[in-house]
Amino acid sequence: MGAAEPESAEVDRLPGWVTLLLAPNPGPMTLDGTNTWILRAPGAERATVVDPGPLDEGHLRRIAEHGPVDHILITHGHHDHVEGAARLSELLGGAPVRAGSPVHCLGGEPFDPQESLDGNGLEIRVLETPGHTSDSVSFLVECGNDRAMFTGDTMLGRGTTVVAPPDGDLGAYLGSLELLRAYPEVLMLPGHGPARSDTAERAGFYLDHRRERLAQVAAAMAAGAETPGAVVDLVYPDLDPALRFAAEWSAAAQLDHLRREQS
Ligand SMILES: [Zn+2]
Repeated sequence: MGAAEPESAEVDRLPGWVTLLLAPNPGPMTLDGTNTWILRAPGAERATVVDPGPLDEGHLRRIAEHGPVDHILITHGHHDHVEGAARLSELLGGAPVRAGSPVHCLGGEPFDPQESLDGNGLEIRVLETPGHTSDSVSFLVECGNDRAMFTGDTMLGRGTTVVAPPDGDLGAYLGSLELLRAYPEVLMLPGHGPARSDTAERAGFYLDHRRERLAQVAAAMAAGAETPGAVVDLVYPDLDPALRFAAEWSAAAQLDHLRREQS
């Protein structure tokens, strides 16, 4: 949806301590499928998993082949990221599942704000990045001089993410993008789509995009659009019908945000 993207920033080659396993759940909302990330410091016996993905036995068994695993970490509670967590934990002999929300934890506690986790030679810092969902976090991971940001659906490798109220919140989302804009030249590894070379640049791209859209929605409101559907008709006249429901969610979030600002 929308603005041209800086293609040059896509990254094909991942650092040696990161493995990507793409889940077999492609779709309009999941792009090529959910990215499951496996992190293992050079020479370390134990790994960390970020986002098990859907409950797909083949995918979960492929992840489990990379064990033993110390933690299964969840970026946020959408089913395409967490559905397979309990089964993966079982396949890995009871590896704890940790998430922002207690609902998605299994044998482990919810993250503390700004918590640092021991990743067996990796330092894993939890950053609260709400907006896509209220429980969204990102993981800043350091391996020697290398740094990478695992952004879940807060920032995607392609396209824009859905911010759908009531769980999604556009004001919180803009704040999270401002936070992520403080990480220039940090590799970005998203929940869907390709890796990107620069977390800060990607955050700036999304901020510009959101502000441009907000200006368009403000103009649509001024022209009399009062519902998400009416906003979508004015702002995205050539929208692919498969994406319409997502656009209406976004429009609802934008209307919410602008009405709150105006009141
Ligand atoms: Zn999501």
